[in-house]
Amino acid sequence: MITSLLDGNKRFVTDVFDRERDYFEELAKTQRPTVLWIGCSDSRVPVNTITQTKAGDVFVHRNVANIVATNDWNLSAVLEFTINHLKIPDIVVCGHYGCGGIAAMDEDLVDDRYIPIWLNNAYKAKEKVDEKLLSLRIRISKEQRMQLIVEENVRLQLEHLREYPFVRAAMQEKKLSIHGWVYDMSNGEIKVVQRDTVACME
Ligand SMILES: [Zn+2]
Repeated sequence: MITSLLDGNKRFVTDVFDRERDYFEELAKTQRPTVLWIGCSDSRVPVNTITQTKAGDVFVHRNVANIVATNDWNLSAVLEFTINHLKIPDIVVCGHYGCGGIAAMDEDLVDDRYIPIWLNNAYKAKEKVDEKLLSLRIRISKEQRMQLIVEENVRLQLEHLREYPFVRAAMQEKKLSIHGWVYDMSNGEIKVVQRDTVACME
């Protein structure tokens, strides 16, 4: 498997890079991405493939269950760099149906040390969906419930995003919009669950 990656790179050099040499040479000088993508690390959700974008278009941060944790220095540095330095105008938080991270919130992860700690940042989404289903006495399939939690998790992570003072400031100055999307692996489509949230809405 690992050698096929290097073989793939050789094909990339001859089939893509050499043919679009001008584009890549220009790109090597500087990057001007217009979107910060916060997505799940899941191998089935490759941002450039599902959005048909090129190298240089999207600044990417991916982690288990597309979580925005305000105590995550990795993401904090990404946000600071993209908003304050690259002046990125749009952030997308993209979840996906069939997310193993979201499903793991229902499991007893006694042997795992880090996954439960990480998923603490998403539990509120599960609780909110379960409370709503209980109060409305709605019975839905396990899969439908999971889909609702995936969508709610995206909304929750947008809330976390707005907790960063410099994110809120950029939104209030109308320099930044944040968007909540969910990718459906069964048909390849992206569903917009929350669009262009304004900071002062809450
Ligand atoms: Zn996932």
